[in-house]
Amino acid sequence: MKHLPVEFWAIVAAVFGLLLGSFLNVVIYRVPNQMSLAKPRSLCPSCKTPIKAYDNIPVISWLILKGECRNCKKAISFQYPLVELITAALFFCIVYFIKPLSVTPAICLLAAATLSTSVIDLKYMKLPTKILYPTAVFGLILLALASFNTHDYKRLLMAAIVGAIAAVLLFVFFLILPPGSIGLGDVRLIAVQSLFLGWFSWKFAILGFALGIVVGGFLTLGLLAFGVKKMKDKIPFGPFLSIGALGSVFLTLAFPVWLR
Ligand SMILES: [Zn+2]
Repeated sequence: MKHLPVEFWAIVAAVFGLLLGSFLNVVIYRVPNQMSLAKPRSLCPSCKTPIKAYDNIPVISWLILKGECRNCKKAISFQYPLVELITAALFFCIVYFIKPLSVTPAICLLAAATLSTSVIDLKYMKLPTKILYPTAVFGLILLALASFNTHDYKRLLMAAIVGAIAAVLLFVFFLILPPGSIGLGDVRLIAVQSLFLGWFSWKFAILGFALGIVVGGFLTLGLLAFGVKKMKDKIPFGPFLSIGALGSVFLTLAFPVWLR
């Protein structure tokens, strides 16, 4: 396994990302609507016809069917191929660029979780615990495996501590700040992201948070300036926090000295 080039693993990750992206679309549709992930199999959202396996190939089926259901010809959202492509691209970049290779499965999990929660936050203004809690549990397992592989258990301890501190600190903010300034969902999301980033260093957890605030702040100001949103409108912050966290993962390449 060790002698295979990183390009090989990056391509494997991208293909896996396409398939997982397809599952994330199911998660994005079903979790906020309190539906089971296991049953029933995928249906057309319009006419409820079960989707055949050969019509469920990531991206390709959507292109062949020209974005329409085979049965009722109603449009199938561009979100479906887009989520699949973004997952594949993220997985490829994570495995190709992020070091060490053994931490990349954990980071792919972070990417999948942040992507699905971001789309849900944009559509429904919620960040489901049904995604965030399992992500924290499986994240800890994958980070433990990465530590086992690199014999660096200090990082695992750091991840747990940084995640816990973020959870407590943000919860205090939630209690003392005026209502509506930070949601409990955001608190959970930041804590989960800090767990993963803490494995690299606590500095990347802070950097990710700061990056999310800056990106979100500028975009919100832009939306207000152009009149797209009004002051009283609620703007989901999950996507910005996710951009910050994933951006911070890639900034581990720019600040290798922080990794020590
Ligand atoms: Zn249909």
